Amino acid sequence: MRTLDQSSAHYVESQVFLAGGVASSLRSAMKPVPLFAAEGSGPRLQDADGHEYIDYLLGYGPLLLGHGHQAIVSGIHEALKRGTTFGLQHIGEIELARRLTELLPCAEQVAISGSGTEAVMLALRLARAHTGKRKIVRFHGHYHGWADSIFTSFPSSDMRQSDSVVSTDLILPGTGGQSQLALEDIILLPWNDPEALEVTLRQNHGEIAAIISEPVMCNSGCILPKPGYLERMRELTEELDIVMILDEVITGFRLGLGGAHGKFGLKPDLVTIGKALGGGIAISAVVGRKDIMDLIASGTVSHLGTLNGNCIATAAALATISELSKDGGAVYSRLEQTASQLVEGIRGLFAKNGIAGIINQAGAVFHMMFTRELKVDDFASFNQRDVARYAEFAAYLLHEGILVRPNGLWYVSTAHGLREVDETLAAVDRVFQKLQG
Ligand code: PLP
Repeated sequence: MRTLDQSSAHYVESQVFLAGGVASSLRSAMKPVPLFAAEGSGPRLQDADGHEYIDYLLGYGPLLLGHGHQAIVSGIHEALKRGTTFGLQHIGEIELARRLTELLPCAEQVAISGSGTEAVMLALRLARAHTGKRKIVRFHGHYHGWADSIFTSFPSSDMRQSDSVVSTDLILPGTGGQSQLALEDIILLPWNDPEALEVTLRQNHGEIAAIISEPVMCNSGCILPKPGYLERMRELTEELDIVMILDEVITGFRLGLGGAHGKFGLKPDLVTIGKALGGGIAISAVVGRKDIMDLIASGTVSHLGTLNGNCIATAAALATISELSKDGGAVYSRLEQTASQLVEGIRGLFAKNGIAGIINQAGAVFHMMFTRELKVDDFASFNQRDVARYAEFAAYLLHEGILVRPNGLWYVSTAHGLREVDETLAAVDRVFQKLQG
């Protein structure tokens, strides 16, 4: 077993000075201790105790090109020579917005923010101002950031019975200190259920400003949309004057240069992107229909942020995009191949070791679950997975030098290759044998 003395000691100290001991609540979930990083390079990182890991956490998604990619580092260095932020316009903002309109099929105009949460807040505001309506439809198991107006938690244990019921009773605040009133405009629906969607929209369209949905349910099981589901969502929203927002904070640039909506051939009204866009630097964007984005130009909708579009963030995003779009985005087939090799390999190890498990994959992101379900294709079946067993697996894997999120979601980067895949599969095999023993 690896000793994590430095991480443990730092964590004790950080709890004295840092509220909760971590900078983002989710990070405290890591067992046996929230790891302290020293440095990262490509697909690997080193912790404060000097141990090396193959990294599938990848900063919770942004590091699509791995740690310290030369193009991003040089882009940032070049920008830094001129300054960090001016609170004035600069050419990098225009270049970035132009590139996004070229690459993302639904992007007629762009608004730049600092985080996925802020992008979602802006998209919801635009939708309400555009339609003059209040209610927002969102779905069980999706995550759209931690703003009061959208952050909900889910009672997973009894979801199997209840998730087909369209009910506002189930809407629970995501955190203490959040006003229940902040959620009174939310309608919560099961995802991938076209009937529930159609009934709700037809009955309530006079009040519904927007639907917000992840295009793939990455935050709960990496579940793909059923054939025709998002297309039906598009038809209904168009017919009923409801703004369709796809939250591509995870899938944007991860699934392809055109995001999930490009891949699926969809044209939502608004799309939020973040994470991979900045390659590890804080930046996000709302992109979409010009007539809706024009609400910002007209002054109807405020879009604010001291550091919005700062030079470092735009340089990082431009370098990321330029790298990903080389040879027409050829890198994506290699990326998907690496992820598939891992997925197929782990599926083989499930079988070899007699372990019941499922992996759902969407390109370079996948969700691994220990479950006796035959498939995980909705939030109810997702909730049947053995959460404790996976956390135990992730903790063992840490000691084998493989860093994964304790919740089952794996991110893969362009820096991962066959060597990492082979090492990872050998480690997973050893851990499976431990779990069986
Ligand atoms: N939307 C989705 C789909 C996400 O997965 C996340 C974060 O994981 C967010 C929004 C919020 O992004 P951020 O953490 O940058 O605020």
